[in-house]
Amino acid sequence: MILFDGKQSAADALQSLAEKSTQLLSQYGRRPCLNVVIAGDDYGSMRYVASCEKNAIKAGIDCKVIRLPQTVSEIELIDRIRQLNEDMTVDGILVQMPLPQGVDANKVIQAVSPDKDVDGITDTNTARLWKSRKNDYSRFCVPCTPRSVMRILKETIVELDGKQAVVIGRSNIVGLPVSKLLMNENATVTVAHSHTQNLPALLRQADIIVAAVGKARFVTADMVKKGAVVIDVGINQDPMTGKMCGDVDTERVAPLCSVITPVPGGVGLLTICSLLENTLDCFLRQQH
Ligand code: NDP
Repeated sequence: MILFDGKQSAADALQSLAEKSTQLLSQYGRRPCLNVVIAGDDYGSMRYVASCEKNAIKAGIDCKVIRLPQTVSEIELIDRIRQLNEDMTVDGILVQMPLPQGVDANKVIQAVSPDKDVDGITDTNTARLWKSRKNDYSRFCVPCTPRSVMRILKETIVELDGKQAVVIGRSNIVGLPVSKLLMNENATVTVAHSHTQNLPALLRQADIIVAAVGKARFVTADMVKKGAVVIDVGINQDPMTGKMCGDVDTERVAPLCSVITPVPGGVGLLTICSLLENTLDCFLRQQH
């Protein structure tokens, strides 16, 4: 059984990005540059943004944080994003959620130029993903967590062609894009959700399970077949201990698996790496 080491994988990804950024600096005279827009002082958002800044330094990518007050209006936010769209020194724009009450998050997201949409969530990039037939991250940005899931499958040499995959969850940022990326690798994908009947029976047939439910220890050992690959995207608070845990009962499921990702220490550590990779890819597209 392989217990995926997210820490090592993230360190390798950042190192590789740092080497590429140095090369780009000498070739083009500047490094890739990410701008993060944050409105208000949501605790989770501030922690995430601080982590972006820290990891961007390791990856040799410039990261500028634009802090706006909780009182910022939708028009002001969109104006700011338009300025960033036009600024040729800005390669990637991340709008940190949640936005203040009264601001239409979708309008703000759609204001980001698809060519700088490092979260891969504008309608244009969603359409590009759904029309794509193979995974080529150099062409457009895909959402960060799904990109991380695919990296893990590649690093742990999981064969996807012809395999049965079940993705639990159909959100626009995780479940749906993961399912399309898996389909592009020729897996046969079932997307499960809260109305799915007899999920345990479906899961027991799966070669690959991607859990993105948001429910602590939702996937239990009786739902997993021997040799399955289990990718746990969930970030939950364990109701018993108060500590962070995933959507999978890792302790009991792990002995059955060929590969499993822990929480913490798995997918979550790679999400910012994917964000920075998307930034570097935007930079390259802009140069070409
Ligand atoms: P959402 O709440 O948007 O989606 C949850 C999905 O789970 C929904 O599609 C829902 O179905 C489905 N679901 C809920 N209950 C059941 C059930 N009983 N059986 C089957 N499916 C069910 O969550 P996200 O996709 O945003 O996130 C999922 C998890 O991943 C969360 O724990 C989140 O914190 C974590 N996350 C982790 C990231 C990382 O970097 N590691 C990044 C983003 C998220 P329905 O559509 O019918 O409501």
